[in-house]
Amino acid sequence: MDTSLKNVIVEKAKTSKIDQVDFNNLSFGSIVTDHMMVCDYKNGSWETPKVVPYQPITLDPSSKIFHYGQSVFEGMKAYKDTDNNVWLFRPLENQKRINISSKRLAIPEFPEEYFMEGLKTLLKLEQQWIPQTEGSSLYIRPFVFATGKGFHASPADEYKFIIACAPSGPYFSGKVKVLIEETYSRSANGGVGFAKAGGNYAGQFYPTQLAVAKGYNQVIWTDDNTHEYIEEAGAMNIFIRINDTLITSPISDRILDGITRKSLIELAKEEGINVEIRKIAVKEVVEASENGTLMEMFGAGTAAVISPITAFGYREKDYELPELENSYAALLRKRITDIQYNRAEDKFGWRY
Ligand code: PMP
Repeated sequence: MDTSLKNVIVEKAKTSKIDQVDFNNLSFGSIVTDHMMVCDYKNGSWETPKVVPYQPITLDPSSKIFHYGQSVFEGMKAYKDTDNNVWLFRPLENQKRINISSKRLAIPEFPEEYFMEGLKTLLKLEQQWIPQTEGSSLYIRPFVFATGKGFHASPADEYKFIIACAPSGPYFSGKVKVLIEETYSRSANGGVGFAKAGGNYAGQFYPTQLAVAKGYNQVIWTDDNTHEYIEEAGAMNIFIRINDTLITSPISDRILDGITRKSLIELAKEEGINVEIRKIAVKEVVEASENGTLMEMFGAGTAAVISPITAFGYREKDYELPELENSYAALLRKRITDIQYNRAEDKFGWRY
């Protein structure tokens, strides 16, 4: 396949919706910008990417996305600094990961140059949409799905890759209370847990609804085999601080290899924090809570950045986390957002 790209075709929107947006009151991911990037896969190759006005798409009812769920996505953000420069955070990690996900779902991989050039062309048009207010950014959603037709249960022969953007505020507002799940599983060995496949999220909604009905915001998934070990949350990797040690579960084929997670591990080590990447038993966390050594739990992900967990539920009992003045969560949130918003030196070369 020829993956060298001359240019991206651009068709500008005739009018903009931007005047209708209150940038001081942004929720997460509910308003979309004026344009989107679209690229079709037909006859065995990706066509030239286009940036076009944001619009609905028409699909045949037999398109395989509807029946066999061939669909994967990414989540990334563009940040604007005080001089109006626009930054991405480790975008090539998202580009690589969407192809890791695609491969697992038998979706053709999308060339790096198409991804980056398409994204840059789109962002240049949407610069005004990138919020500058603290805690806000432009959420970017690349996704690819099967448009190919037919009820035969086999991979489609046609796909559509889209990048859409949504100016967004914080993902969670307020306290995050989680429920440690022992009945349902998010993923299993040999499965698709490591992929950002649409179906992984669909499978989480029902158990999460049950948890929400009990007063929790999120489920913490445990391993499908024994339900004894903490894995991750719905859209976040999990960090647990016992005494002064920061612990997070190892990546496996059941857990998403989060870009925030791996960045925080490096930042924490640089801060001199003792970081352990190992299995964390629920029992260990419950015992630490009971003996007063459980200091912090927080979720980490692009959308939520770092979300401190204020309490966790396990076997019909709630365990409160202490409120710390100098938390690792606050320190690491400052370190990572200072890099993302170009407020600090970026010795890792993560800013793009
Ligand atoms: N786990 C899951 C299941 C997720 O959906 C996400 C969000 N992409 C994460 C973890 C965090 O990953 P990242 O830091 O790359 O956003």
